[in-house]
Amino acid sequence: MRIVLATENRHKVEELADIFSGYQLLLPSQIGVDYHHDETGDSFLANAMGKARSLSARTELPVVADDSGLVVPALGGEPGIYSARYGSDIFGRPLETVERNNYLLERMGGIENRRAFFVCCMVLQLSDDRFFVAQETVEGGILHEPRGLGGFGYDPLFFLPDYGKAVAELPESEKNRISHRGRAGRRIRAVLDSLE
Ligand code: IMP
Repeated sequence: MRIVLATENRHKVEELADIFSGYQLLLPSQIGVDYHHDETGDSFLANAMGKARSLSARTELPVVADDSGLVVPALGGEPGIYSARYGSDIFGRPLETVERNNYLLERMGGIENRRAFFVCCMVLQLSDDRFFVAQETVEGGILHEPRGLGGFGYDPLFFLPDYGKAVAELPESEKNRISHRGRAGRRIRAVLDSLE
C-alpha cells in the first residue's frame, strides 16, 4: 500500500521509513504536490490534523501527518508547538539547530527542574471524514551540554535516564523503539495493518 507523508523533513522521513517498513512511503513532491502547510493550531493535535487534512484534500492516497515537539514544564511548556521555530522571534530570523539548542540551554540557565518530554501527534487521514489519531510521549531531561551526533533537533540535549544517554547517542533503530514518534507510529501502523 502507498502512503503519502505530510512532511519534507528528511530526518522525520528516515524515521518513518523504518516505522512503516513494508509500505511504500511517498513525499508530496513525488506525487506532484507542492506541499506547504502553515502551522496555525494551538496544539500538536490541531497542527497534525491541519497538515493531514490539507494534504489529503489533494490526493486519493492515505496520508500520514505528524506534529511533534519538546515540552519543558519548568519553562511553562516551551518550546512546545513552536519547537521548530523556537527563538526565531527573539533573533528575528530562523535559527540553525545548534543555535536553537544553545538558546534552549540559555533559557534553562539556573533552572534545577530539567524534566522534559517529547510529544508526537500522528494522524492517518483516509478521506475528509475518515481519520485515526495517536499521540504519544517520551520522558527525559535537558542536559547541560549537547551529547552525541545522531538523530536531529533537540536529540543531543535530551537525556534518557533509563539509558544513561542522550537520544543523539542512540542508533536510529533504538531511538525508533522508544521515541514519541516510534510509539505513535506503531499505533498508526497497527490501524493501517488492520484496514479493510
Ligand atoms: P514539526 O515539524 O512542526 O512537527 O516540528 C517538530 C520540531 O520539534 C522539530 O523541528 C524539532 O525541533 C522538534 N522535534 C520533534 N521531534 C523531535 C525528535 O525526535 N528529536 C528532536 N527534536 C524533535
